[in-house]
Amino acid sequence: MLLDIFDPKAPPKPIGIDLGTTNSVVAAVRDGIPHALVNCDGGSTLPSVVHYSQHGTVLVGRAAAAHAQSEPQRTLASVKRLIGRGADDPQTHKLSAYRFVAPKSEEDRRVVRFDLGGRTVTPLEVSAEILKSLKQSALEQLQKVGGAVVTVPAYFDDAQRQATKDAARLAGLEVLRLLNEPTAAALAYGLESKQNGTFVVYDLGGGTFDVTVLELHDGVFQVKSTGGDSALGGDDMDRLIAEQMLQALGFQSGAAVAPELASFILGTARELKHQLTTSPTAAVELPQGAGTIHYSLSRDEFERLIDPLLQRTGKACRRALHDAGCDASAIDGVILVGGATRVPSVRNCVKEIFGKMPLTDIDPDLVVAYGAALQAQFISEASDEVLLLDVLPLSLGVETMGGAVDRILPRNTTIPAGAVATFTTYADNQTGFDIHVVQGERELAKDCRSLARFTLKNIPPMPAGLARLEVKFHVDENSLLAVTARELTTGNEQTVEVKPSHGLDDETVERMLIEALDHGEDDLMARRLAETKVEGQRVLLATNKALAADADLLTAEQLTTVRAAIGGLQKALAQNSSPGEIQNNIDALDAATHDWAGRRMDRAIAGAIAGRQVASVEEQVAHAAGVEAHLQAHASQGKAH
Ligand code: ADP
Ligand code: MG
Repeated sequence: MLLDIFDPKAPPKPIGIDLGTTNSVVAAVRDGIPHALVNCDGGSTLPSVVHYSQHGTVLVGRAAAAHAQSEPQRTLASVKRLIGRGADDPQTHKLSAYRFVAPKSEEDRRVVRFDLGGRTVTPLEVSAEILKSLKQSALEQLQKVGGAVVTVPAYFDDAQRQATKDAARLAGLEVLRLLNEPTAAALAYGLESKQNGTFVVYDLGGGTFDVTVLELHDGVFQVKSTGGDSALGGDDMDRLIAEQMLQALGFQSGAAVAPELASFILGTARELKHQLTTSPTAAVELPQGAGTIHYSLSRDEFERLIDPLLQRTGKACRRALHDAGCDASAIDGVILVGGATRVPSVRNCVKEIFGKMPLTDIDPDLVVAYGAALQAQFISEASDEVLLLDVLPLSLGVETMGGAVDRILPRNTTIPAGAVATFTTYADNQTGFDIHVVQGERELAKDCRSLARFTLKNIPPMPAGLARLEVKFHVDENSLLAVTARELTTGNEQTVEVKPSHGLDDETVERMLIEALDHGEDDLMARRLAETKVEGQRVLLATNKALAADADLLTAEQLTTVRAAIGGLQKALAQNSSPGEIQNNIDALDAATHDWAGRRMDRAIAGAIAGRQVASVEEQVAHAAGVEAHLQAHASQGKAH
């Protein structure tokens, strides 16, 4: 008999938690080896389902799932899909089985709320219930629980990570770190101490498929690319079997089925699927009328049924490889994660895609939690901590004048990462600078996801182009973004912790990437047009200002030429001409004012010699130079990493 003796002086034990869409697991390291802890269901995987009873009790796991049929609105499953998402998010509408609270304010729109009748809860609170239950189980077995490492999908954006972290805090956990699920799986296999190389993590769960290309170099993991399909998993296999069963029962395909029957059939289909993992055939008696009918399914038939699903995972794998810039032959190992990878034909499919046998020694249901537990132990011991590097799933940038995007941290940049961009004011005496932080691959800000907006105020009045605004991005090891903007001449500073109102799911990421590819040409054109227009307006402004101050330095004839050039540019701008056409007019105005700008400069300098205030001379010189060198002024957005 094994006896666990409790030592009251023993330090708290750190834990690792895999907070899954379908199932969650808590694990801890004992004698250097990770173990899954027993949850309230008595097993190691806890269904991520929470039931809120009418009397106010909260059930988690199998006990909660038992209410799914009778009280679907009060029994919440798959909420991970909605964590950190807004009420307007397309994902929200997909989970239409639930009643959502209609958003009344802008603030409401930022978070989804489930309507339980009499009370509402957010996905964050629901996740906190799952985490609380896991913490309680850990407490019962470990007596004292230390910090926790909680895993998240590699593609989770800032909002989703923040919400996960907050859920853990709400559950009374000290979050040591958020860890990417694929990285956790690689840690569980101890890859960091074994060999350098490029690895793929193939994670087929209940409702989501994630594929990640990881590079390991001297104990440092770097996520090279992520991909997948947020609507693909073991549940789809259940649905395919369920359809067949319904047909055997005489239902037309696509016919409406009573919810009780649908849920019974789906449950039975899942059982058959599990049986087929270990045996070549599986059978069940299905109720029909007063009797039953015999339904059987062979593994071969099942494999034919799910083949299209597996083909889709293949496509996502090839895309991820392409994104990582390598081909299948460059992969040193493939790790299987997720309960659905137990299906033998999934393993064969992976073998075909990558041309090698996947690693399957560790239970695919537990491998992520094991890695999290190991990492929690590493961090707690503060010993030779494994350095974990991940990448940004989508580029981060700021909107510039005219609606274009200046990318500051490109997609797939290794994190933690920092970058600094310098901007300048566009108008004279501009005292505020709007900063709009966006995420995405499109050229125009309106086509990217808006993450945050803020205004840097109290910029001292200066001529356009003189103020220097430094915008610093910092993405920490949990992929959380902070943006700092500073006006360099005054040192005025403002920092925002970016808490985007919406999350991005991997499907959106994928869609945004595809759109960026599809619209590449249009986008570039739109961007050029936006930029040329801004430039044209700037030149017009500067020229008119110069005319007001120094028109006497022009002959009547020169004045006519300048006026004509101004007219030409105004017309091109008003007519929304092509960027080329606008640029031609800018060049023409540039040529018409060239000599005059020189004379204005001379005058400004002469003014300085005559003992005028240096500041005002600087201003004048800047203006004179402005007309001449508008191109430079426009391009004064230097970047430094
Ligand atoms: P998630 O990461 O989404 O929380 P899991 O990794 O727990 O999901 O995977 C859940 C899926 O794995 C379900 O569709 C379940 O039916 C499937 N699954 C679990 N065990 C088996 C098995 N022995 N054979 C086939 N599928 C399985
Ligand atoms: Mg999982």
